[in-house]
Amino acid sequence: QPLVVAIDGPSGSGKSSTARGVARRLGLDFLDTGAMYRACAWEAARTGAETPEQIAAVVTAAELQVTTDPDDPRISINGTDVTREIRDPEVSATVSRVATVPEVRVDLVLRQQQIIGEATRGIVAEGRDITTVVAPHAPVRVLLVADPDARVARRQAELGEKVDTAQVTDQVIRRDRDDSTVATFTEAAEGVTVVDSTHLSLDEVVDRIVRLAEE
Ligand code: C5P
Repeated sequence: QPLVVAIDGPSGSGKSSTARGVARRLGLDFLDTGAMYRACAWEAARTGAETPEQIAAVVTAAELQVTTDPDDPRISINGTDVTREIRDPEVSATVSRVATVPEVRVDLVLRQQQIIGEATRGIVAEGRDITTVVAPHAPVRVLLVADPDARVARRQAELGEKVDTAQVTDQVIRRDRDDSTVATFTEAAEGVTVVDSTHLSLDEVVDRIVRLAEE
């Protein structure tokens, strides 16, 4: 049975870098499920889909192509590679609206389960509902948490000097609120190991999860 490592966490918890690091260390594939929601939000904006019904129609009809190499994960929707575009602030600001449409979640969860099932060398999947909905039986399940200040600092480092702290704080807090119906991060589901990355380096967090996988 190929190994599945499930990692959940809020935005700025460092779960993407962590999951990629774990995948590299263990020689596994990598799946960023947030990128799938982001690609759908990008396509919804492009096609002018606004109501939940319109958004659901766009997503269920979409052809999504996801590659799972931790060194170069790419995503295309309806034939357009949107790997770079999905990081735009406009996508970050609207993605929760798309992610909270129930039909969207049903559709993307199925696609994610299919990708995980096809990963013959095993996979590290990260998102919001991987430990609970997408892969609740994964042998390694981790909830990555970090204090809001640390998450804001990381987001800011990602975005560069040009954005000010107040603005980033606002974005992080707003997305927590917008995502609050997706999953709650105050407590982990049963059997899920909580890793607090506030005072840990990326390498230290990766080490901890690799050790869990080797147990
Ligand atoms: O992880 P990232 O910040 O890129 O995720 C973008 C958005 O996608 C989240 O804010 C959330 O709305 C949605 N998402 C989700 N379920 C997941 C992963 C992401 O609803 N498993």
